[in-house]
Amino acid sequence: MFPSFTTVTVVTDTLEDTGVVAEVNAWLEENWDPELTVAEWWERLGTSGWAAPTLPEGSYGKGLSRGDAVLVQQAIAEHGALGAPGGLGLLLAAPTIATHGTPEQVEEYVRPIVTGQRAWCQLFSEPGAGSDLAGLQAKAEQDGEEWIVNGQKVWTSGGQVADMGMLIARTNPNVPKHQGITYFAIDMHQPGIDIRPLKEMTGRAMFNEVFLTDARVADDAMIGGKNNGWAVANTTLMFERAGLGSGGGSAAASAATPGTVAGDLDKRAGDFVGSRRSGGGGGFGGMSTMLIELAKGNKTINDPTIRQGLMKLHSFAEIGRFNNLRVKAAKEQGKEIPGMGNISKLSMSEMMRMQRDLGLRIVGASGMLHAYDSKERPAIDAATSNPFLGIVTELALFAQGPPIYGGTDQVQRNIIGERVLGLPKEPNNDRTVNFADMPKNT
Ligand SMILES: Cc1cc2nc3c(=O)[nH]c(=O)nc-3n(C[C@H](O)[C@H](O)[C@H](O)COP(=O)(O)OP(=O)(O)OC[C@H]3O[C@@H](n4cnc5c(N)ncnc54)[C@H](O)[C@@H]3O)c2cc1C
Repeated sequence: MFPSFTTVTVVTDTLEDTGVVAEVNAWLEENWDPELTVAEWWERLGTSGWAAPTLPEGSYGKGLSRGDAVLVQQAIAEHGALGAPGGLGLLLAAPTIATHGTPEQVEEYVRPIVTGQRAWCQLFSEPGAGSDLAGLQAKAEQDGEEWIVNGQKVWTSGGQVADMGMLIARTNPNVPKHQGITYFAIDMHQPGIDIRPLKEMTGRAMFNEVFLTDARVADDAMIGGKNNGWAVANTTLMFERAGLGSGGGSAAASAATPGTVAGDLDKRAGDFVGSRRSGGGGGFGGMSTMLIELAKGNKTINDPTIRQGLMKLHSFAEIGRFNNLRVKAAKEQGKEIPGMGNISKLSMSEMMRMQRDLGLRIVGASGMLHAYDSKERPAIDAATSNPFLGIVTELALFAQGPPIYGGTDQVQRNIIGERVLGLPKEPNNDRTVNFADMPKNT
């Protein structure tokens, strides 16, 4: 799960409306009704293809480009309607299953995602397998028409509220490590799954450790075929990078929550409109504007180093905008720019760090005051007379996350070096030696 700070908004003035806005507006005119429950509204939005318009037609999408999807999202918000159900289901599981799943699996898993009925988590990382994800040790053993899963996952964002998990597990240790992995859609509500929250420095407990002890998953919940999980997982990671780097993460910022555990399904849809969660929606543009206003307010704008920092942030945002234009132009010619997803993700992480450092410098000593609990917020706001302080301190605490998740900065650079620039790989034998015979991370 990506908290609201990762809702990196695409710089929309580069987006050209190809007629899609009129189409979605006409649909909204006929269909939006604030009196519907969230579940009823998401049923309409999801089955129409407007909840996840980048998914292919026939898989609850409309086959639109990411740029068009951003325009759709904006049109929904401007109409005053509730946006699509957010979270890792829509961001990662749905496009992965639409790419590798069977039509039956699309029906079984994608439909409840786009209609907000089920929330998902990503069961990839393990205590000994993060950057070296293919070194994972959770194993799944076949038992008739089911698989029995044993192992431990960690850093599972939103695991405590998930209905389903994207699980990768080792199904054959007697082949090189990338070849013996299978991707499953596992039901999180079962006795074999024990979820233990981990408290973060932000004060929240978004992460979890997940212990799988004889957990069961059906054979037909295997996505993309037996021992083909590495390719499927890479599809998920590709959508993760693309989403984080270029704004798809904003799909994760709907005001209402999907799923059966913490979902808002029975509530009135109209009550969520115009109530985007704190920190969300503004993206880098919104954050920069806020920092400029804060700096003007307390006169730090006159400090040349602060001005320089703000200018650097603006320049990064502009470079991001130019890159969006380059990607768009290349796409129109049927080409792509190699490594752009990795570059966008690196850039997003760098901008978060810049915002963290600049924000703390602008607010000065009051940056040491943070409301770990929303009930503490009013007292701090009153003491500092700065209602935006919480956004600055929250970002400062969270900014360490983006350079790690979705592949660390170092891993992004390795990918660019090896796969884009063609530099020699680090010597290793993990593509030739069977996983069972390799030394293990403990
Ligand atoms: C906010 C957040 C949310 C997350 N959500 C999820 C989730 O929902 N599901 C999930 O499965 N995981 C999740 N993760 C976990 C995340 O994917 C891992 O933390 C990440 O892949 C790094 O793995 P690691 O923590 O094991 O670090 P390691 O892989 O142990 O890395 C430690 C350090 O070594 C460096 N390093 C490692 N290998 C290399 C190399 N080959 N070359 C150069 N440097 C290297 C890394 O860059 C890093 O600095 C989340 C993480 C964060 C911070």
